[in-house]
Amino acid sequence: MLNRKTKIIATIGPASSSPVRLKEMIMAGMNVARINMSHYSDSNEVEKVVNLIRWSSKKYGKTISILFDICGPKIRIKSTIPKGKILIKKNKEYSLGVGKVNIPINNKIDFSYVKKDQIIKIDDGKIEFSIISKRYKHSIQVKALNEGVIYASKGINFPNIKLNIPSLNSKDISDINLGCNLKVDWFAHSFVRTDQDYDSFAKIISSNLEDIPVIAKIETPQAIKNIDKLIDIYDGILIARGDLGVELPIEQLPILQKMIIKKCNKRGKPVITATQMLDSMVSSPSPTRAEVADVAGAVYDGADAVMLSAETAVGSYPVDSIKTMSSIAENVEEEISRSSGFQINEPKFKKTNVLTSICHAAYNIALDINIPVIAVMTESGSTAKMVSNFRADANIVAICPYEKIANQLNIFWGVNTLILNQMDNVDDMVLGCQKLLKDKKMIKKKQKFVFIAGVPVGVPGSTNLLKVHEVE
Ligand code: PGA
Ligand code: MN
Repeated sequence: MLNRKTKIIATIGPASSSPVRLKEMIMAGMNVARINMSHYSDSNEVEKVVNLIRWSSKKYGKTISILFDICGPKIRIKSTIPKGKILIKKNKEYSLGVGKVNIPINNKIDFSYVKKDQIIKIDDGKIEFSIISKRYKHSIQVKALNEGVIYASKGINFPNIKLNIPSLNSKDISDINLGCNLKVDWFAHSFVRTDQDYDSFAKIISSNLEDIPVIAKIETPQAIKNIDKLIDIYDGILIARGDLGVELPIEQLPILQKMIIKKCNKRGKPVITATQMLDSMVSSPSPTRAEVADVAGAVYDGADAVMLSAETAVGSYPVDSIKTMSSIAENVEEEISRSSGFQINEPKFKKTNVLTSICHAAYNIALDINIPVIAVMTESGSTAKMVSNFRADANIVAICPYEKIANQLNIFWGVNTLILNQMDNVDDMVLGCQKLLKDKKMIKKKQKFVFIAGVPVGVPGSTNLLKVHEVE
């Protein structure tokens, strides 16, 4: 095995936006850069970050995808509160909402349907309140269940309370337009609740005449309830353990994580495990044993990618966090490859067609006769995604003419990407492919690679050809 299979997503922030730091992160193994729009309000600043990532990716010759994370209906403490904090005393009553209140929030919520004794959690559940009563339409009276300090912009969760807020607010809409203008590779949609949330998001993308895939962030009980539909309609799934662990009992997380990964693997949708994976590395150069086991667990479960948040956005050891994550994944993968094989959640497709059969055959051939590379000529990317589903030990190399598709494919388990212009006949394709693989030192003379492609060339979705080629 040559390369790490599990992809690493690193969140960009003040600790990771200088050219030098970004270079180190790329060299350490970052595959995807996540821009969390919760923390950006200035579009010029966002554009600068995107340009720097694109520039660095070219300069260091590594495919780096940009994942643009849209805040969605996440409710937060207002960013402008006096002194930037509010002291909370246990059992004391406070008003919360918009208008003249003790605890001001950023979103005008209709509290008409809240009930007495429902629970509200602030700052990842560090401070809890129970609802006493409704005050006005947009504010409520609450009682603190413990003491603490609330800081500006911290998140508020209303677990299991139905709030009539749209899945995208005006900032989200302008952020999606911005992402389309900047031609980001993936979007993520926070606080998804139902499959209908997808439509409003996708409409904005298509009104920009773009075709950018969207990942659903699973962080609410409603999303768990609708998980099957969400996996079907969205282009990928992110297990957002931060908010999910506040909205649902935290001890449910490992169970939900395994359940979601299994479902995604079976249906061939990319899935990301996220949040606090190496949290102690925000301020420490080495991880805890539990964190090492957590990253390893996500790899064993079958995640396509593992994600770093504060570790790389604001932490003191962003590069070490990536190196640590990469090394854990590599070690686990080596062991899996040696022992059981990667296919723990075998993909199951509603219908088998030429595409799935050829990809499955490529996987089987590589496995049976120990071929190190499966080279996939892919135009829309769908053939490479399909090969990824089978979790081959061989290195999957997606060779495509478009940078945009290469960037999208880069998030999928095991998929390496190379750019090659289209050729019109099969022999030229195989030879072009061979040269590229040799140049990149992915294959040696006398070794074989499995080659899959579609003819006629230039017709997306025409995969119909498989060849086992010995390198000259
Ligand atoms: P966030 O999402 O970092 O945007 O909150 C991830 C999570 O909730 O785990
Ligand atoms: Mn979240």
